[in-house]
Amino acid sequence: MKILLFSTARYDLDMLVPALTGAGHEVQTTTQRLDQHTAEHARGFDAVVTFVCDDLSAAVITVLAKAGVKLIAQRAAGVDNIDIEAAQRANIRIARVPAYSPHAVAEHAVALLLALNRHVHAAHQRVLRGDFSLQGLMGFDLYGKTALVVGTGRIGQVFARIMQGFGCEVLAHDPFMPESLRIPQVEYTDLADGVARARIVSLHCPLLPETRHIVNKALLEKFNANAVLINTSRGAVVDTAAVIQALRQGQLAAYAADVYENEACAFFRDCSECGYDDPLLKELLHMPNVLLTPHQAFFTREALEAIAAATVQNVQHFATGQHSENFL
Ligand code: NAD
Repeated sequence: MKILLFSTARYDLDMLVPALTGAGHEVQTTTQRLDQHTAEHARGFDAVVTFVCDDLSAAVITVLAKAGVKLIAQRAAGVDNIDIEAAQRANIRIARVPAYSPHAVAEHAVALLLALNRHVHAAHQRVLRGDFSLQGLMGFDLYGKTALVVGTGRIGQVFARIMQGFGCEVLAHDPFMPESLRIPQVEYTDLADGVARARIVSLHCPLLPETRHIVNKALLEKFNANAVLINTSRGAVVDTAAVIQALRQGQLAAYAADVYENEACAFFRDCSECGYDDPLLKELLHMPNVLLTPHQAFFTREALEAIAAATVQNVQHFATGQHSENFL
């Protein structure tokens, strides 16, 4: 198949591209994001391989369909950037990589929690400038605290078990988790009750119309004021402006995230020279009790190898007309 890979990063050239060419496909790459202006570049290609910041809205999908594209192979689990109905109408198949390494993401959520709670990032900056004082660096023991896991799918389950290992009491909220698949020794509860009781809240649900801004002003008012909120799911699960307000008003103690609701403004690019235009993100980053990483939770060697292998398999299944559970 002729494949065009959008938003290509160095690590894609090292891992994904050799895997696709090794399977006999003809691959071209571009560092450009897929959007209304770049979609035309896909003319003559059978498939596009896309990532989370590519724009696969209905308008872009129309251009892809006219250009002859038959497959969108998303090299990620989340597909919230894709208008699925528009692709179905255009007869373009969507494939994704639903599971590559839940450990990669859950472990990053734990890294954020530990760094935020123990001020590791601030302490490192301090010692670099010769300040070895402890003022302002006090954290709390995770042992014995209550952690709420929102969404107990693949990643949420790993996170919950790690928290149990720390000696936390784990609560969970997941309205779609059948009783038979629930995590042992975890109390399932409704969201308002969970946030009121938890010292740690970690988000692991997908971004859907029902989960957009699920953490909003009304819910934040119910939070335990000492709580820390960790978001490695999708930025728009959280209303960022409401989180900033809650931090200012002392309704929330601290926020760490790997995702942001308008990642297209800066994420996955080096904007250190050119800057970026997103006042809300700047405001968030200026808060003292906020820690942000640039959507890197998936970024482990094991996860990238699994993404490459699954993407090749998705393309192969499509090319040979086989069904796959990874097709939407
Ligand atoms: P999954 O499908 O295995 O689990 C998601 C769980 O969320 C399911 O159990 C589902 O029932 C539950 N859920 C759905 N709606 C909910 C709601 N309203 N409230 C609470 N729970 C709800 O998915 P996963 O593999 O665990 O991934 C979870 C999310 O993590 C993905 O959708 C993606 O957005 C995000 N993710 C982020 C990164 C990253 O690098 N930061 C990487 C991979 C995935």
